[in-house]
Amino acid sequence: MRTRRNASAHAGPAGDAAGAVTGHDRALISVRGLVKAYVTLDATITAADGIDLDITAGTVTALTGPSGSGKSTLLHLIGALDTPDVGTITVSGTEITALGGNALADYRRTVGFVFQRFNLLPTLTVLDNVTAPVLPFKTSYDVPARAKALLAVVGLAGREHTLATRLSGGQQQRVAIARALINQPTIILADEPTGNLDSATGEEIIELLLALRDTQSATLLIATHDPDLAQRCDQVVQILDGKLV
Ligand code: ADP
Repeated sequence: MRTRRNASAHAGPAGDAAGAVTGHDRALISVRGLVKAYVTLDATITAADGIDLDITAGTVTALTGPSGSGKSTLLHLIGALDTPDVGTITVSGTEITALGGNALADYRRTVGFVFQRFNLLPTLTVLDNVTAPVLPFKTSYDVPARAKALLAVVGLAGREHTLATRLSGGQQQRVAIARALINQPTIILADEPTGNLDSATGEEIIELLLALRDTQSATLLIATHDPDLAQRCDQVVQILDGKLV
């Protein structure tokens, strides 16, 4: 694992106030001994093979590695979209791998996802795509107002009522980023967010994502093949055959 920036650089208020707290104590996300294997008819693939990782609050971590190395698996495990066979993931002091039921659903709502293929609902408008994740839940904020504000943040003010499929790839990824932010997430997990975009559009999306660390006080983990994106992150973590290298 390669660390680009000192762990104290984005320690957040608690770490700053404590001064001498170590990087480990400040980790927002702590992964320990994580193992995940997929059993198919032909083979057993160990996509996470004993991963230990700490991510400091308020930082951006790039997760790099060749296709099939286990990047998506790790993102899905941290986002609690899947469960590990062995190991623990602790977020803000809570072992999320031990949660179930409502507590697990509550945790999932603190995580925003951005995908390579945007994963927008094609029959919905831009605004409805952004509000969709929180529609089933009671919220303490005005959902359409927040969605409109986020669409302005991502540069899509005035496009609220356009069908998602009428937008360009870059615009669709902007909608996906606004959707990821709708529930004020602590963590944003992005899986190859520039993988389906041309380089100029990808650059705009990189700028937007990197800014979220500061504008949304978010902690980001970005799986990427893009060396330009990786070298602009605070920490770069390389994965190969399910192991950090
Ligand atoms: P990456 O995101 O780096 O491309 P993945 O985490 O998607 O890697 O995949 C890691 C390995 O696990 C690959 O060999 C992939 O084929 C395998 N894999 C991922 N998901 C599944 C699944 N649901 N069933 C079987 N194998 C899977």
